[in-house]
This record gives sequence, C-alpha cells and structure tokens, in this order.
Amino acid sequence: MSLTVLRSAAEVRSAVARARRSGASVGLVPTMGALHAGHGSLIDRARQEAGCVVVSIFVNPIQFDRRDDFEHYPRLLETDLAFCGARGADLVFVPAEEEMYAGPQRAFVEVTGLTEQLCGRFRPGHFRGVATVVLKLLNIVQPDRAYFGQKDAQQLAVIRRMVRDLNVPVEIIAAPTVREPDGLALSSRNRRLTPEQRAAAPVLYRALQLAERLSAEGAEHPERVKAEALGVLAGQPLARVEYLEIVDTEELQPVSRITGPVLVAGAVWFGSIRLIDNVLCAPGR
Ligand code: AMP
Repeated sequence: MSLTVLRSAAEVRSAVARARRSGASVGLVPTMGALHAGHGSLIDRARQEAGCVVVSIFVNPIQFDRRDDFEHYPRLLETDLAFCGARGADLVFVPAEEEMYAGPQRAFVEVTGLTEQLCGRFRPGHFRGVATVVLKLLNIVQPDRAYFGQKDAQQLAVIRRMVRDLNVPVEIIAAPTVREPDGLALSSRNRRLTPEQRAAAPVLYRALQLAERLSAEGAEHPERVKAEALGVLAGQPLARVEYLEIVDTEELQPVSRITGPVLVAGAVWFGSIRLIDNVLCAPGR
C-alpha cells in the first residue's frame, strides 16, 4: 500500500474499514509531528505487527499549558509525510484543529492519582489534554494496538491506566527511548536548542545514568541517589532543574526505599526549552 493522507475522521474510518475487510490488523502511532528516529522506531514496530499502520500528526492545543510552546512547536508536514512514507506507514491522519475540536470541547478524560505529580505538577491540564486527544484518536481509528514511547513515561502510565479503567479495546505497546550518540533523548524540541544548550543537554541523561548505576549497586535511599544525580545537574550552569524524582512504576508515587523497580524521571530547562527524560532502574541489576 502507498501512503494515503487523510484529513477527516470519516475518511480515516472508511480507509481503516477497507483495510480490515482485507484482513489487516491496525496499528496506530499518535504523534505531534516534527518526526525523528524516536517516532520512527514506533512506526517500525507497528509495521512489524500490523497490516495497516496509521500515523496521526496533530499538535494538540489542549495539552499545551504555555501558548508560546504551542505556537513555536515545530510544524514540518511535508518532511513528516516523506518520513512516514519512507518508514512504510499506510495512512497518515492530519486533522485540522476544527476537525478534532469542532465545537467547544465539553468532555475530558481525567486520570486521577497519576497526573498530579512529576510533569503534571508543573503543567496543569497537560495530561487531561493528552488523555482526551488520545481517547479521541483511539475512537476514530479503533486500532488493535497503539504505540507509545517510554521517553514520555508519565504519559505512557496515564494512557495505560485510561485504557484499563475505561475498558478501551486496544493494546498499548511501549517502545524504548531512542537517543543521540551522546545520550540526549530525541525530541522534537531539541531542534530549538542553541548550539550551547544542545552541547549541555546530555547532562540530564548523565544524571539519570548515575541514579541508575547507584540503584543497581544497591543504594536504597532515594534521597541519596537523588542528591547525587542533582549534583551532576548542578555542574551544568545552562541547566535549570524543574524536578527530579524517584517513583514507583505503577502509581508514580515517591518511594521511601529502592527495593524494587523504580522510575527516575526529570525535567530540566535549557533557556526557554524544557526537556524531559527518565530511566527505569532495578536494584541489583
Ligand atoms: P510526540 O510527537 O512528542 O507527541 O511523541 C509521539 C510519540 O513518540 C510518543 O509516544 C512519544 O513517547 C514517542 N517518542 C518521542 N520521542 C521519543 C524517543 N526519543 N524515543 C522513543 N519514543 C519517542
């Protein structure tokens, strides 16, 4: 199948129905565009597992807590379509804002308990916007599987929980974080860093790696591990830490001891660009 670009939910429904009639299973990769190898890894995974691969590209206004971030979010549709074609996607859904939010949106998805901490603490309404748009996309495409990156660990946990608690008939597949050779997690926002900020940005992953190593070596006290990781970040004057937390992998609550798998997650500002990253750690690994 060659790449087909669709603008309306109705077109997506009929294209997906056609694919299903031919016996194909359906995989969805939701994105906001400015595609990079991180998105590419999700498309590749979907390509391996589904007969019909749908990529959505939509910069979702209701998940932005800062107007300037929304306005400056990179929009590179032509390049993105070529990228999707080269990766073997079948359908690309590129809705206009009015297609996704035809009237004032009155219904929202709220995932409580998982959205008040970490990024949610600093980005009010963000996860409500994410959960709402993802449920809308799942309802439009009705895929068998939907693919998300571990890079956005809290988003992944929120979506898994939404799907479970609302009985959404889809399997959520998580894919590992794709990084630059120097460790920086790929992100559409990286292109907005100045050369100096770009050179400084890998400090976030270095700090997380130290936390990973300390917990693997048996450090049990999260405060100590946190202090060491924050020490790495403090050594980089261009980095302004928003948060760095050690939480359990299900409920994303701070742990008092590192005795099982934990998520170490952080958000750091470089100038006006906010980057996030995380590592999964297990003691004694
Ligand atoms: P975004 O376009 O930033 O909304 O991301 C779309 C999807 O790509 C989300 O599931 C992200 O978690 C995933 N993603 C973004 N960056 C990466 C990365 N560096 N590695 C793996 N997945 C990623």
